[in-house]
Amino acid sequence: MKRLAWFLLAIAPLLAVPVAFTAVLATGSPFLRTAIPHEAHARDHCTWHCHNAGCPHAPRLPLALAGDDGLYGDTIGGLKSAGKAAVPSAPGVGYGVVNLAVFCVAWPGLMYALYLVVLSQRRKIIALRRGAS
Ligand SMILES: [Zn+2]
Repeated sequence: MKRLAWFLLAIAPLLAVPVAFTAVLATGSPFLRTAIPHEAHARDHCTWHCHNAGCPHAPRLPLALAGDDGLYGDTIGGLKSAGKAAVPSAPGVGYGVVNLAVFCVAWPGLMYALYLVVLSQRRKIIALRRGAS
């Protein structure tokens, strides 16, 4: 029984993704988008306008994070370079493919691997506590 509980804990995040997608598709959720939204820019906070055309205002985050010379710019530049290398004939498509690969596969995969490490360590700690008492 305990093995089943640990197994269910291990696969729970994997089940959450198809459940969430099914819920979004079944309900016609506003989170389901077929195009990048066009939104007017606001003076005091970022909107989709900032995403589509760049920030026309002073960002709230430090430039080291949000600026073109900071983490944001480096990330976009890296994705653009990788996209151009992946699909030289259509760099825009390559950018999209690399963007999805990094943020929808690699990053969640890394987080899931770390989650499994945490579960494994938790099992070991519990086993050690049982042995100590
Ligand atoms: Zn902005």
